[in-house]
Amino acid sequence: MSYHLRTGLAFFLTAGLFAVCDTHHHYEGAHQHGVVTVFIAVDGPSDLTVDLRGPAESFYGFEHEPTNPEEQAAQDAALSKLRDQFTDLFIFPADSHCQVSQHEVVVEMPAADDHDHENETSAEHAEHSGEHREVHGIYAVQCQGVLEGKTLAIALTEHFTRIETVNVQLLGSREQRGFDFEGRGEIEL
Ligand SMILES: [Zn+2]
Repeated sequence: MSYHLRTGLAFFLTAGLFAVCDTHHHYEGAHQHGVVTVFIAVDGPSDLTVDLRGPAESFYGFEHEPTNPEEQAAQDAALSKLRDQFTDLFIFPADSHCQVSQHEVVVEMPAADDHDHENETSAEHAEHSGEHREVHGIYAVQCQGVLEGKTLAIALTEHFTRIETVNVQLLGSREQRGFDFEGRGEIEL
C-alpha cells in the first residue's frame, strides 16, 4: 500500500479504491449522470483528504472503453486534468499554499446495484448494462497554517461541463456537513 493517509476515516474512504473486494462500504450516492460526490475529510489542522467520485460520462462523455482515438484522447484529457490540475478544480486560499502530496485517479466499475435504473428505458438500460464506469480520484492535500475557517472553492463544473450537481460531504474534526450546489461552490472549512 503506497498510501500513508493517517486517519481511520481516510482509510475508510480509500478502502474502496484499493481493496480487491470491499465489504459493501460503498458511498451512498447512486450512479446518476451529471451528479458527482466530493468527500472532504479533515485529517489535521493543515491536512485533508479529498475523495471525488462520479459517472465517467460526467467527466468525458461516455462510459465504455475507448473505441477510437478521439474517445481515447477525451478520456486521457479528463484524467490528466484530474491528476495534474487538482488545484484548478479545488481552489484553496493562496496564503494556505496547499499542495497535493499524493493522488490516485482511476476509472472503475461501481457495484452493479449502485446504478439507479428508475428513469431509464429498457433500451437505455441494455446500452448501459455493464458499461457504467465511474471516475474515482483521491488526493492527500497538505497546506501551511490552519485551514479551519478558510474558504475552499470547487470549480468542477467549470472544467467538466457535463457535471450539473456537486454533492459535498465535509467530514470535519468536529462536525459533518453535506450540501449540494450547481455551478461553482464555496465552502468554509
Ligand atoms: Zn452511467
